[in-house]
Amino acid sequence: MPSLARAFLLGNDMAPPVFQPRSAYAPRTGYHLLPLRLGRLDESIYIVTNDVGEYVRLERDELVAFVERRLAPDTNAYKSLKSRHFLYEDDASVAFDLLALKYRSRAERIAEFTGLHIFVVTLRCDHSCQYCQVSRQSEDSAQYDMTVAHADKALDLVFRSPNERIKIELQGGEPLLNFPLVRRIVERAQELNQHHRRDLQFVITSNLSRLSEDVLLFCKEHDVYLSTSLDGPADLHDAQRPTRGGGSHQKTVEGIHRTREVLGPHRVSALMTTTPRSLHRVHEIIDEYVRLGFHGIFLRNLSPYGFATRSLVKRYGVDDWLDFYKRGLSHILRINAGGYLLREDYTTILLQKMFAPLGSPYVDLQSPAGIGIGALVYNYDGAVYASDEGRMLAEMGDQTLVLPRFRRHPRRHQEAGMGRRKRRAFTPEFKAEAVRLAKASDRSIGQVAKDLDLTETALRDWIKRADTDAGHGPPGALTTPEREELQRLRRDVKRLEMEREILKKAAAFFAKENE
Ligand code: SF4
Repeated sequence: MPSLARAFLLGNDMAPPVFQPRSAYAPRTGYHLLPLRLGRLDESIYIVTNDVGEYVRLERDELVAFVERRLAPDTNAYKSLKSRHFLYEDDASVAFDLLALKYRSRAERIAEFTGLHIFVVTLRCDHSCQYCQVSRQSEDSAQYDMTVAHADKALDLVFRSPNERIKIELQGGEPLLNFPLVRRIVERAQELNQHHRRDLQFVITSNLSRLSEDVLLFCKEHDVYLSTSLDGPADLHDAQRPTRGGGSHQKTVEGIHRTREVLGPHRVSALMTTTPRSLHRVHEIIDEYVRLGFHGIFLRNLSPYGFATRSLVKRYGVDDWLDFYKRGLSHILRINAGGYLLREDYTTILLQKMFAPLGSPYVDLQSPAGIGIGALVYNYDGAVYASDEGRMLAEMGDQTLVLPRFRRHPRRHQEAGMGRRKRRAFTPEFKAEAVRLAKASDRSIGQVAKDLDLTETALRDWIKRADTDAGHGPPGALTTPEREELQRLRRDVKRLEMEREILKKAAAFFAKENE
């Protein structure tokens, strides 16, 4: 026997171990913690939030008592925390089911499958923005236009998605440089939709320099929205978004006004991009949006794709961006306090994620990631990407997020998810009857499975389990009650581990506060 073990057993020259009684590890009251996040709102008020969009405000004393599991059940704080899934009691077997149900509702969009379909109808553009993330091409490079054949194949794929709400976004480059194809896609989609009957929406993302009366009338007739870019006041916008002959800002503003006149006040939205030039001008940028009558602005940082990586992105860091964002948000709050309603979209998304029961439909920042589920991108050259960033990366030579091209594997996307058979649930009685039939029949197991509309694998598995339950299984095989007991124990271990993680997080939070 190794000497250390011998010393331990004989208590040689080492002190005998002292164990706490089992009761020392038991919770002090009959409740357990559920996953949560902690934050401080002000001097005395804290907030706890969870993954299903619930939150509770607590005094510090209440918060400490709560995480130490000594909060009295007759307090309001306890009742709120219980009803909003921050704690569950020993005998509350439904608590997890309820939490799971809420989480499932929140994540339901994943089951709806792809709702946003982006068509890159051309990479050509008449602007030359320094930060262009899509690596635009010159106006005369017709080889960067999507073909009708690719557009039609993409439309077939669009309608294979089971999603009831389909949004088709027509992007570029500048999509109005290939307006005949835009027209074709919208008309063909509406034609196909007479059969599919989806809630169909169209958006053209354009710098508006090519916005003609024809385009506007087409948009009116086919219920198409417009989305544009507006980087702030004229000098800033023109410097960041140069175009031949100049006047980018003027063209965009004229396009916004004209769109509102023809289509209505809410049919055009705008996005801004923050460059090093913008960093000191956040108030002016926001004021420009107010001046033009917008009630929303999305303060967006520069993403490291396309031309932005070469020129601009390294010239400001996270701290610069956060400072810009905070100053912008304060200005927006002041504007709202003054009576003009102005929404900041990034904050809106974050707040929806934290506090709204169904979260945010925005495709970015999803968990699980919305890749391929939130959006699909059909590129001008027939390539398909699982996200808009995927195509930007591909333009930079990184093919990680490229899906199979149409012409090589036209059906693979369907096989990967859209056409897959749904998982079904069977009662124990049905399984027992299926096993009995398979054993009594002189047909093969595969044939019986086919007759019952089952997979052969499932039926073979049920037969094996029935044999084990009857005591005829291989040595060591678990019977159904034993397997259920094992599953229950595993669940208990998982819950204990989860609770330990929550306590660790809370301890770290308070330790940081006390520093
Ligand atoms: S950002 Fe848009 S408008 Fe500017 S160059 Fe790129 S595609 Fe053209």
